[in-house]
Amino acid sequence: MALVLLDESPTLYAYADFPPFGRCPRTTPAASVHEGEFRVDESEVESMARGSRLGAMGALTLVAGVTLGGCAINPATGKNQLMLVSQDQGIAMGRQADTAIIASIGLYPDASWQAYIQQLGAKLAATSERPDLPWTFRVVDDPAVNAFAVPGGFVYVTRGLLTHLTDEAELASVVGHEIGHITARHTAAEMSKQQLIGAGLALGSMASSTVANYAGIANQALGVLYLKYSRDDESQADLLGLRYMSRANFDPRRMPEVFRMLDQMSAAEGGGQVPTWLATHPSPTNRVAAITKQIAALPQSFSGTVVNGDSYLRRLDGQVFGDDPREGYFQGSRFLHPGLRFQLVFPDGWATQNGKQAVIAVSSAQDGIVEVAGAQEASADAAARAFLAQQGITAGASSRANVHGLATVSAPFGAEASGGTIRGIALFVEYRGGVFSLIGYAADARWSSYKTAVENTLHSFQALTDPGALDAQPQRVEIVKLTARTSIATMAQTRPSPVSAATLALINQVALDAPLEAGRLVKWVVGPATLPTNKP
Ligand SMILES: [Zn+2]
Repeated sequence: MALVLLDESPTLYAYADFPPFGRCPRTTPAASVHEGEFRVDESEVESMARGSRLGAMGALTLVAGVTLGGCAINPATGKNQLMLVSQDQGIAMGRQADTAIIASIGLYPDASWQAYIQQLGAKLAATSERPDLPWTFRVVDDPAVNAFAVPGGFVYVTRGLLTHLTDEAELASVVGHEIGHITARHTAAEMSKQQLIGAGLALGSMASSTVANYAGIANQALGVLYLKYSRDDESQADLLGLRYMSRANFDPRRMPEVFRMLDQMSAAEGGGQVPTWLATHPSPTNRVAAITKQIAALPQSFSGTVVNGDSYLRRLDGQVFGDDPREGYFQGSRFLHPGLRFQLVFPDGWATQNGKQAVIAVSSAQDGIVEVAGAQEASADAAARAFLAQQGITAGASSRANVHGLATVSAPFGAEASGGTIRGIALFVEYRGGVFSLIGYAADARWSSYKTAVENTLHSFQALTDPGALDAQPQRVEIVKLTARTSIATMAQTRPSPVSAATLALINQVALDAPLEAGRLVKWVVGPATLPTNKP
């Protein structure tokens, strides 16, 4: 519930671009104190900003509606199921979650991948028992190997997952599995269960109409969204995924290969890569065996089924692999953002979270916070006026200053949140045709001990001009066509890569010494030998 979730978040969110200035959703930081814990509460903020409580009311209605479900036969599972959430409610939950996911994790910025996953997902979903849902499939900009689903027909795969698969049929098996969670209504059931046991507050935050520009709040949302399923649910989703991929004419024999790859990632824990997908999808111990048995029961004529290996691999050529330093990295407590060309120094020892639309730092006691984000107004003046005019905010006298040659407007402020008073300082900086908003605050009683550190951080904001820092590049996948029979181990002796031969074998789903025939396409990883750290 509190910002402690920073370190429990299932993935490390990479920081990409703010939305283009002038078009980004409204970013209006504030805080509230609930049950003695300090936390950002987006629904409060947005409601305040709009002078209405509609966001929070909407969430309450959603929770209340949960108790009004009925029983019905689920066409995917054939079972009579207590429908805790109606289809319309599920779709509404999904839409809200989708907004939060895009704001916090962000989409992988490649239109051809987005179009491709939507097309593939729609083809699979059309074979399901709920073809009428507003099926939406997205690639999110996350290096973790993961896929997840939320109610209403929303399915997400990470770019990290894509680099670990070797063909379209494997991707279809993962997407089919996630579709299965939705058609079997695991997502709606899990989400409503969590609401009912008291996570309603976090979901309420997430469910506000314009969601989660805050990494903290987004994490809370994702804590709810990264639903953990039971092993029975997993088995059922596997079977449904197999059903859908078979109906869509993909070779079902590729599905167990995905699970083998995930198991190998876990086994290679020395490499520090436990796939997130396994953390959120507890693996039935006999999963590969169970799937293999199911496949054996299918008509054994797989000729004409689709695998699409080479075309899938060609899509991966140039794909970002692992963390992307262009989206922000740390040198000690200094945060550098090559993409947006700024830098600043966070207070020593504060935990940071580099989100898609904001980077935040939180004191070790989690009672002080600094947030940096894009403002939508055209000038620092206008941004300050909009921020200070919010209902519930008491504005101090604002002042103009030049900070490292940039025009700024700053003002102290107080705010009455539902649990108590907060106090802080807001700084708006005009930079490169846009406005950055830097907001630092703490609970009233703690503000005096954080004020100096927060002010130092706000005033450290400046242009990033060092060419070396600006030129930070990620590692990328390169697709290599073999000219002779070889193995990954042999290739690695002469062909440089910043990652280990074991990692290359893993992402190609072959053994290190396995002979690979001439003409075969192989994934290689190229780029800088070391990446800057994404933690202070
Ligand atoms: Zn699953």
